[in-house]
Amino acid sequence: MNIKAQNFRQTKIVATLGPATESPDCLAKLITAGVDIIRLNMAHATREWVAEIVQRIRDVSTTYERQIAVMMDVKGPEIRTGPVDHPIPLKLGDLIDFSTESSGQRDDAVIGVSVNYAQLPQDVEVGQTVLVDSGLIRLKVLSKTENCIRCEVMTPGELGSRRHINLPGVQVNLPALTEKDCADLRAGVAAGIDFVALSFVRQSDDVLALRRFLDDLGSTAKIVSKIEEQAGVRNMHDIIQTSDAIMVARGDLGIEIEYHQLPLLQTELVRACQAEGKPVIIATHLLESMISSPMPTRAEISDVSNAVREQADAVMLSGETTTGAYPLESVEVLKNIIRTIEPSVERKLNSQIQLKEPKAKMLRAAAALAQDLGKSGIIVFTRSGFLAYALGALRPRGVPIYAFTDVEAVFRQLLLPWGVEPFLMEFSDDPEQTILDSLDYLKRKNWCQTGTWLVVITNALANEKIIDTMQLRIVE
Ligand code: PEP
Repeated sequence: MNIKAQNFRQTKIVATLGPATESPDCLAKLITAGVDIIRLNMAHATREWVAEIVQRIRDVSTTYERQIAVMMDVKGPEIRTGPVDHPIPLKLGDLIDFSTESSGQRDDAVIGVSVNYAQLPQDVEVGQTVLVDSGLIRLKVLSKTENCIRCEVMTPGELGSRRHINLPGVQVNLPALTEKDCADLRAGVAAGIDFVALSFVRQSDDVLALRRFLDDLGSTAKIVSKIEEQAGVRNMHDIIQTSDAIMVARGDLGIEIEYHQLPLLQTELVRACQAEGKPVIIATHLLESMISSPMPTRAEISDVSNAVREQADAVMLSGETTTGAYPLESVEVLKNIIRTIEPSVERKLNSQIQLKEPKAKMLRAAAALAQDLGKSGIIVFTRSGFLAYALGALRPRGVPIYAFTDVEAVFRQLLLPWGVEPFLMEFSDDPEQTILDSLDYLKRKNWCQTGTWLVVITNALANEKIIDTMQLRIVE
């Protein structure tokens, strides 16, 4: 086996970019280390930065001859506290007012902070729990007026500026796409993003609203719906059907539901996505300790292994690569775990996925044949990406899926699905020539050597008609 096939990994890696990794030098290291998708988190990024950074990613990718995809993560209906001059220490029993007006009446005995959600007092009930800053600060609502809620501190902590507020179980009355999201998306589409991750998706209509918005901008970016609150969980099946992919956003999800339910819900979401043939990303806290430590904890190693065993399409780094001290080491740790665990997963094709069209049904036969042959791969030619996404969803373990496309945007979007290695190549009018070009490319670039079996899904000319075929070729 050649080097590239030996290093082949089916589980993809998403890394969030931030101050620790945005320099051209560090980006180059992330890209050459094998990160497949870079995520831009719009909770912290500016639109000017987006334009600059996407261009930088493209430039570095071109220099190092490895293209990667860019995912813009827009914040959706998120409630945040307002700015504070200095972090405020909140002690047990302190009282804090959250006011929907930045200059409301203040009681000197009570800490006062603004909040960006005008309907907060209407949505919460007295006695209810309010969680701030990833659930680190826990508050209880004592009373409310038309434009203010007064809370008592139950779990102390330090309140910084613009901290995220979770209201478990409350259906927030905010649109799926805020004005900020729309402005962020315009900037992202202009810069050429490949994926949009939408936060706090509650129902399939949220996804459709984003789809319409992207269509109007002329963007074909794929939509990754983040499941991170209770309505999203309830409506997961509709949301999966409407979305291109799902992110199990465990940071917020672990606050919005009972934390001990999280593993069961992760498994349920992964299985539901696999049944629909939609990619699924496992996000947040995979290697959290590596923000400040060069080694992961044993529990983190097990968590990443679990995601690989569940056959998620991708695992995602957040703080580890935005502000962490060991971003490259984190990517190496993910790669090492993935490569060690993947060969141990049972070689069974995904039997849940429904393949409706005859050509799609042929993919199952192709995947079974390639697995049976051993030392093999699958070649697929695709303009929409659909066939490659479906092949990935079949999970043919040990068999690289070489997806050739002549559409640049599709090429980068094929970096997400499990097991797919995409290539950008011109197609010839003659299907046989296209096959020969792909075989030549794979051999030249060291993906396959003489003797490798390749199952090829392609069109062929038969009596001047185009027909769908599955062919068996060997690399000579
Ligand atoms: C999460 O909550 O796990 C997540 C990925 O979302 P955020 O953008 O808030 O990190």
